Amino acid sequence: MPEKLIFELSQPGRRAVPMPALDVPAKPLSDIIPSKHLRQTPARLPEVGELETVRHFVRVSSMNYHIDKGFYPLGSCTMKYNPLVNETVARLDGFANVHPMQPEETLQGALYLMHELIRMLCEIVGMKTATLQPAAGAQGELTGLMMIRAYHESKGKPRKFVLIPDSAHGTNPASVVIAGYETVQIPSNREGRVDLAALREKLNDDVAALMITNPNTLGLFETQIEEISRIVHEAGALMYMDGANLNALLGLVRPGDIGFDVMHINLHKTFSTPHGGGGPGAGPVAVGSRLVDFLPVPRVVKKDERFILDYDYPKSVGKVHSFFGNFGMMVRAYAYILMHGDRGLKRISENAIINANYLLSRLASHFRLPYPGAAMHEFVVTGEKLRTFGLRTTDLAKRLLDHGVHAPTIYFPLIVREAIMIEPTETESRETLEAFAEAMIRVLKEAEENPEMVRTAPHTTPVGRLDEVKAVKELNINNFSVN
Ligand SMILES: *Cc1c(COP(=O)(O)O)cnc(C)c1O
Repeated sequence: MPEKLIFELSQPGRRAVPMPALDVPAKPLSDIIPSKHLRQTPARLPEVGELETVRHFVRVSSMNYHIDKGFYPLGSCTMKYNPLVNETVARLDGFANVHPMQPEETLQGALYLMHELIRMLCEIVGMKTATLQPAAGAQGELTGLMMIRAYHESKGKPRKFVLIPDSAHGTNPASVVIAGYETVQIPSNREGRVDLAALREKLNDDVAALMITNPNTLGLFETQIEEISRIVHEAGALMYMDGANLNALLGLVRPGDIGFDVMHINLHKTFSTPHGGGGPGAGPVAVGSRLVDFLPVPRVVKKDERFILDYDYPKSVGKVHSFFGNFGMMVRAYAYILMHGDRGLKRISENAIINANYLLSRLASHFRLPYPGAAMHEFVVTGEKLRTFGLRTTDLAKRLLDHGVHAPTIYFPLIVREAIMIEPTETESRETLEAFAEAMIRVLKEAEENPEMVRTAPHTTPVGRLDEVKAVKELNINNFSVN
């Protein structure tokens, strides 16, 4: 049964907690709050009893699908399990209740943690230093591009274009445009990697950078990356790496060692911040020597055995977030990195890659792999076979919900028809992967035997197919009637 809105449960005059009658003279509200700030009409609030409220929210919370409930193979999103112990650590009083406006000498622990986290992240990715300020991967991209612009301006001209492979994550071109650059698309070759000839053709002294997702959104490592980096630098441009999916590279590849000048890291994907509900994230940006001067301020530096916030960087692009950024995410990441150590971090990536390839090999004889070869942490197959039964990838995704698993990412990347993008992540067991593979294969069989049933799926969820286009174009969450 779909759950009613709490407003629909409302009964006039119903209260959760009845207040005793006022036994002192009432003072007009306008004596306390200036009348221009007072409402003309009462707020429209639901009137519900305590038990109805509790039950409503418990029911809603158990309808929600989340990683603690089941497998979540959403490609590109790294919906892995984040150890709950890091939640406990982030809630420790000394971390959760520090205030960014406290005097520096009372913030030494927090500043130490940030300083250490920067050091550890830079060691992991092979960069010089980093900023922890950006609140998300996309904001990290923008910050990196602002630094690239400042770098070129310091050399005399900002340049005009940023080259982006067609297998890039969608946020990349958006960030490029916000940073005031124009994107130029580089096609992929038949192996799903950057087409070197096309790249050479597009490079000139108006190109500010190449922005590349590695592993790319096909889950493939850019095998020619050192050559790419060489020719990009020869043209005076910089190398930006979208490192959101760092769980494929930990302890295996350091982007700084293969020619990247700047990259962002999603703490909320790789380093133990739960995400997916639009909650706070953190997208630190690490840089090599070319961009150090342009990092946002303040920077956390160590001076005479104390940690201070240093604003004295005249070439800095400025602030990109209030105070230091989302500190709670940094605490989780710090604890997570310490908990694993260098060997543990490497095993994270090894497991992410093994899990992806295990699943790939289970599915490869049922779903075509448009760009064959071993995957990194995720892979993309096509659901085009469903077309022979008059169905599409969406139908498979919806029917999977009936089998109790979250659907993979679909229709992305755009260069694969009927794309199904699967990221099992490192935290799943072999049994879970098997169960998912079986569900995928079963739906394919159902599609052949009973396409109508698949077309009208899901059948067991609280609501069936939503009109997604209407929801996007006419979103109106206030459009309900109150009694
Ligand atoms: C998730 C992701 C991003 C965007 O990160 P947000 O934190 O959602 O802004 C960028 N690039 C890649 C490859 C990603 O997977």
